[in-house]
Amino acid sequence: MRAQFAVFCSGCGAVVIKGASAFNRSPTKVFYCDQKCAGLGRRVAKPNAEKAAEKAAYDARYRAENAERLRASKAAYNAATYDPDEARRHRAANAEAIREYRATHMRTPSYRAAKREYDKALRASEYGEFAICHQLLISLERELRSRGTKYQRARARGYYDKPSAQTRKRVCQNHPIH
Ligand SMILES: [Zn+2]
Repeated sequence: MRAQFAVFCSGCGAVVIKGASAFNRSPTKVFYCDQKCAGLGRRVAKPNAEKAAEKAAYDARYRAENAERLRASKAAYNAATYDPDEARRHRAANAEAIREYRATHMRTPSYRAAKREYDKALRASEYGEFAICHQLLISLERELRSRGTKYQRARARGYYDKPSAQTRKRVCQNHPIH
């Protein structure tokens, strides 16, 4: 009779009989009674939200690292399969659904917030490497405008200046010295 070992299941603690070969081959000497216990025992205890966040981060990294290849393959697929007439028919057939989508999804606060950020970035991208500066300047101006009182703004405009000073300012603006 070949040698056998009685070990405890790492999951439920039941006694498991293992052959000498299986026992000796195991580097960890961790055993389970059945597949169910083994699966539970090897499961990584991590909340689903954490797993989803990790996967999302991995996906984002993957897309960034392979952006060029992905863009090229998508462009190739599109060039090979896109049919303008078919697309037009598809749009016409789904006109009602498209209208519905625009009326509901595009009015949600989350979409509008995302769109606002997208548009902001798009406008700023016109300034290339100074895009961040442009965005900061806009937000700074907005902040200053929101903080200033009506009186401060009127004063900065020269509303309270003496008539002579106003005239001087106007004349100098209209007839600049070159
Ligand atoms: Zn077990």
